[in-house]
Amino acid sequence: METKKKDIRALTKDQLRDFFVSQGDKAFRGNQVYEWLWSKSVHTFEDMTNISKETRQMLEDNFVINHIQVDTLQRSSDGTVKNAVKLHDGLVVESVLIPTSTRTTACVSSQVGCSLDCKFCATARLKRMRNLNPDEIYDQVVAIDRESRLYNDRPLSNIVFMGMGEPLMNYNNVLKAIDKITSPEGLGMSPKRIVVSTSGVPKMIKKMADDEVKFKLAVSLHSAIDEVRTSIMPFNATFPLSDLREALEYWYAKTKNRITYEYVVWKGINDKRKDVDALVKFCKFAPSKVNLIEYNPIDDGEFQQANTEAIDMYQNVLEANNITVTVRRSRGKDIDAACGQLANKSK
Ligand code: SAH
Repeated sequence: METKKKDIRALTKDQLRDFFVSQGDKAFRGNQVYEWLWSKSVHTFEDMTNISKETRQMLEDNFVINHIQVDTLQRSSDGTVKNAVKLHDGLVVESVLIPTSTRTTACVSSQVGCSLDCKFCATARLKRMRNLNPDEIYDQVVAIDRESRLYNDRPLSNIVFMGMGEPLMNYNNVLKAIDKITSPEGLGMSPKRIVVSTSGVPKMIKKMADDEVKFKLAVSLHSAIDEVRTSIMPFNATFPLSDLREALEYWYAKTKNRITYEYVVWKGINDKRKDVDALVKFCKFAPSKVNLIEYNPIDDGEFQQANTEAIDMYQNVLEANNITVTVRRSRGKDIDAACGQLANKSK
């Protein structure tokens, strides 16, 4: 039986250097191969043209390069592009390219499916199958960057971890991917242009603060009242708002980085004055801003976007309390590429 070859991209640069030394070659060869694998992102050993034929064959005998494949690509009338990305084991995740006049954002997935159970999110209906590896996260970004250059003639400027999955439930791999994305040997992007969005896992928010990460944090809050939040995001029963609050205070004390709250206003759920007042209070625990995001319907009509008056009330009350608020328009709805709509429907 053939022994299973190892994914070469699971090796760190040092491990790759050691491997070459163990083969009687120079450590430097490891650097060359590392560069092909990451900053040049080649899919085959064959493409590593400054490596000798024998060495390429030796790599071929020992390793595989598990690359993602963009399976289907859909373009929205507003320029948004959704990739269905096939992983080496046949599972599929989605990532989205969102161009605006000032920036090009990649929205990437961190897990296949999701273990959380937010009632309003399409991804929650897929059970969590597995975590993505660092290279699978990195590859999504590379694919979107290439599409951005192709369709919009400019490189990617921002990344948000708002695709499928809960990034803080796959923390180590997300961190490794961000290391590659920000390192000069990878894409050399600034961590300030990366946002990790979480539904709020207090222990992991504290861990991020301890790790002194340089990227930005967004929290999908949706309600600052425990009963309401638990009714739409049931895991809130396990991680209540008091724990979240404590973790966010810790985060701010350590990083001095302001927090963004993602917030959808739904008819009959969180569209009353008491909901806004609770949000205002929550926003005062640590410097923050609020993104009011549009609801993207996911079929059965249980949730409905609140009317304009409710959104205006949120905006006015937040502003009157000196809290920065933006009202965000949804993109790519016609191809199910908007927030919370990623559910592998294109196949
Ligand atoms: N698990 C992470 C990241 C994925 S969700 C998180 O919860 O933040 C990305 C964002 O889309 C979150 O703010 C989420 O609350 C929001 N979202 C989910 N379903 C949505 C829907 N149907 N309409 C609008 N936003 C939605």
